[in-house]
Amino acid sequence: MLIYGTGSKHLKTEQPKGIVCPICKSEDSVIMSAYSRHAHIFWIPLFPFGKTVAMQCQNCQEVLDKKNVPEQLKTKSQELKKETTTPAWQFIGLLLIALLIGGIAYSDYQSEQNFKSYLKTPQKNDVYKYTTEVGMYSTFKVIEVSKDSILVVQNEYETNKASGISDIDIDPNYAESLYMMSKKDIQQMYETNKIYDIDRY
Ligand SMILES: [Zn+2]
Repeated sequence: MLIYGTGSKHLKTEQPKGIVCPICKSEDSVIMSAYSRHAHIFWIPLFPFGKTVAMQCQNCQEVLDKKNVPEQLKTKSQELKKETTTPAWQFIGLLLIALLIGGIAYSDYQSEQNFKSYLKTPQKNDVYKYTTEVGMYSTFKVIEVSKDSILVVQNEYETNKASGISDIDIDPNYAESLYMMSKKDIQQMYETNKIYDIDRY
């Protein structure tokens, strides 16, 4: 269940001079309080959405309707909004979301960079993940690297889901026989998207 709602933070209270209560006509009795409102999800402030000013007469206890107060009070209320600042913590949810998106993007970028660098300089025990002609997934493992080629052992198992690779990438599944692949072939398998990832342990 998604629990969301709104909250507000009291910023400042003022009792302006020279204001007459529109209800009881008493002088200097109106107090005004500025609040900054925010939306929250699971009680984590997400983002602020503006300030509001509440007005009440200390004499008649009447809460004043913002639309029906004298111009003078409206001006004071605008001034109070301007001189108060939205607290930074009301942006915390937005900040967390930005960090999360940034983090995911960075980790995607990093794994793509790793993939390219592994492809360029193969190492013993690298596991290449590839798709077969019929759309299955399997792996081969590097046994030895030479200048223009690599010696690999083939995984004898295939899986129909990319996520199933971790289940079949185990030592007993690899064939005994060695298989020679030129780095050019590897490059071509990469360019045609057959090789889609490399694991290095
Ligand atoms: Zn009053």
